[in-house]
Amino acid sequence: MSLTYPPRIHMARLPTPLQPLDRITEKFSTPHGGPRIWVKRDDLTETAMSGNKLRKLEFIAGVAKEQGCDTLITCGGVQSNHCRTTALVGARLGLRVQLILRGEEEQVPDGNLLVDYLAGASAAFYPARQYFAELDKLFAHWRDFYAQRGHKALCIPTGGSDGLGVWGYICGAEELLADCREQGFEPEHIICATGSGGTQAGLTLGCHLLGSRAQVTGYAVCDNAEYFQRKVRDDIEQWREAGNTLPDAGKLNIQVNDGYIGPGYAEADETVYRAIAEAAGQEGLLLDPVYTGKAFAGLLQELHRGCYHDTENLVFVHTGGQFGLFPHREKFSFLL
Ligand SMILES: *Cc1c(COP(=O)(O)O)cnc(C)c1O
Repeated sequence: MSLTYPPRIHMARLPTPLQPLDRITEKFSTPHGGPRIWVKRDDLTETAMSGNKLRKLEFIAGVAKEQGCDTLITCGGVQSNHCRTTALVGARLGLRVQLILRGEEEQVPDGNLLVDYLAGASAAFYPARQYFAELDKLFAHWRDFYAQRGHKALCIPTGGSDGLGVWGYICGAEELLADCREQGFEPEHIICATGSGGTQAGLTLGCHLLGSRAQVTGYAVCDNAEYFQRKVRDDIEQWREAGNTLPDAGKLNIQVNDGYIGPGYAEADETVYRAIAEAAGQEGLLLDPVYTGKAFAGLLQELHRGCYHDTENLVFVHTGGQFGLFPHREKFSFLL
């Protein structure tokens, strides 16, 4: 079926490369074999705006423009990649950006937060308890704040994950499947890190709409499988309610692996930091500790257990996050 995309502002450099990880493939193949591992380089969607959020924001910015908004409001952790990308998109398009951040203001801004400031975004900080309890109120507060000053704001939910943001990875799935076709294979498995669900929702829906037999699995970095089952389904349902047709809804296959979350969101044990070193040292690939490193560490352990031994081709989607690596610098003492 051919897809009809909504209005969109092109900012990402697409298509991103699809690369084989030959050394890791060899190292992690078991006596029973194992898949050829590929990586979809969505860390290369742009330089400063790198990562998966830019794909969603192309469609979100399309709506902002259509609605005549001059301000974007969004939320996330202090080191949110989504907030950093939104801050830069705002700068690029001449839109004001207000960030609602969970956590304490860093005395010396690092990583993503430094980039938020460079991009000229305004940031308000809230303790985690208040943030989770009052997020809707905080959005309403800031929307009113800008309205009183004559500005029209678009509120973007966590991670840009909703029925609109999902278009980013419907499009991403179409691109990824075309890349694979060009390389002469159809992937059996597509793996991504799941944090707010929109990437997984888009990949799952895109593969479903395009008739691919690829199994999309999100490796959760927080919450649990039940939560993301529901969240991914909700995003897809919102997409459908916006007037899109979802054939064979009963056949949607939503798979979440919640076995590798570790201590919690943005907290990791040494396995994750070692997997990051492995990817850098074996393949020259830079992963982050919050999302891609955690998911990749999980994938390596599943490979080691022989879970994908009857698979020929597996694609790991590198969703970006490099700026989030440096604030974790102290965890890499094992390298010295
Ligand atoms: C946000 C993010 C994810 C998770 O994507 P969701 O759509 O929020 O599930 C994965 N990797 C990186 C680097 C991210 O910033």
